[in-house]
Amino acid sequence: MFDVNELISPLATEQTSLSEDVLKKINRQIANQLNTGVLVLDEAFNIVIWNRFLQVHTDKFGADIIGQSIFQAFPELPERWLTRKLMSVMQLNTPNFCSWEQRHHLFELPHTRPITTDSEFMAQNCTFLPIVTESSCKHICILIEDVTDVCHYQGQLQKALEELAQMSRIDGLTQIYNRRHWQESLEQEFAKAKRHSKSLSLVMLDLDYFKLLNDNYGHQCGDMVLIEVSKLIGSLLRVEDIFGRYGGEEFAIILPETDLSGAIELAERICSAVAKKSLEYNGEEINVTISLGVAQLRNKEVSYEGLISQADSALYQAKAEGRNKVCSSSTSVAEV
Ligand code: GH3
Ligand code: MG
Ligand code: MG
Repeated sequence: MFDVNELISPLATEQTSLSEDVLKKINRQIANQLNTGVLVLDEAFNIVIWNRFLQVHTDKFGADIIGQSIFQAFPELPERWLTRKLMSVMQLNTPNFCSWEQRHHLFELPHTRPITTDSEFMAQNCTFLPIVTESSCKHICILIEDVTDVCHYQGQLQKALEELAQMSRIDGLTQIYNRRHWQESLEQEFAKAKRHSKSLSLVMLDLDYFKLLNDNYGHQCGDMVLIEVSKLIGSLLRVEDIFGRYGGEEFAIILPETDLSGAIELAERICSAVAKKSLEYNGEEINVTISLGVAQLRNKEVSYEGLISQADSALYQAKAEGRNKVCSSSTSVAEV
């Protein structure tokens, strides 16, 4: 049977006056006190060394599995992948490494973080070392490092970054897209529509006499109205429509693959849904209306800003014509 002492003792004996026996004891103790799994396989992938870390985490004692094939002792191992790895280490006689990010774990070992991690198994970094005895590589040492903590904190960091990215796109009050993200989306949709010659429409809308509502019922009531109107409008849109808060009480909707008549139809639906909706604040009934401007991308448009100006002009016209109505850029006097 292969002996753990052979791993380092030939070199060490040349440089020290310690006896072989003392060196063996030192080697054994190091291997068994490491907080890393140390496992050595022979050419046929039979286990020849199994340290205490592995005993503790697998509940399999060296005496029971030494001499057994690694694949027999652990049928859950990825046999094809591991065989290829071991063969290449042995044939090329070079070390190899597999991080938890490439393969979360090799052995299905329980970890010591009972609640907080997503995986039920210990995350592992595995190092495959060729062990040269005599002239060729006849054994392979596998080091198993417990990196569950690293994996856990990496996951937490990833989640936090995703939340942060999401927050940077969302308007804090209404929970719809903020102007920056909405505008970036418009830029992309504009380019896409141009490239594929697809239709694209835009709706800009603004609450009517909103300053008066704030003055009469207070700013908090105004906030509640902004939230409820956003929810109502959001419920009338398709998943591919991009709804954002453009400014204080001004909103904008990108309608991909929608022509002017389809956009006008939707705008009319939104206009009447808001007008019909009755809200309540401190026991009082609140009714609001909105004005909407619609524009469609035309071939002559060179920038998405032009599309915004058209929808804005149409919105201006809807205001001028008495509010609570929809105007489109084709009817707009101030067309750009
Ligand atoms: P119009 O019908 O012409 O649009 O008149 P308006 O009163 O709606 O428009 P104006 O631009 O005069 O006033 C908009 C008001 O919206 C003023 C501003 O204080 C208010 N406002 C902007 N952002 C918020 C907000 O986040 N919450 C609240 N409660 N009010 C806001
Ligand atoms: Mg307004
Ligand atoms: Mg306004």
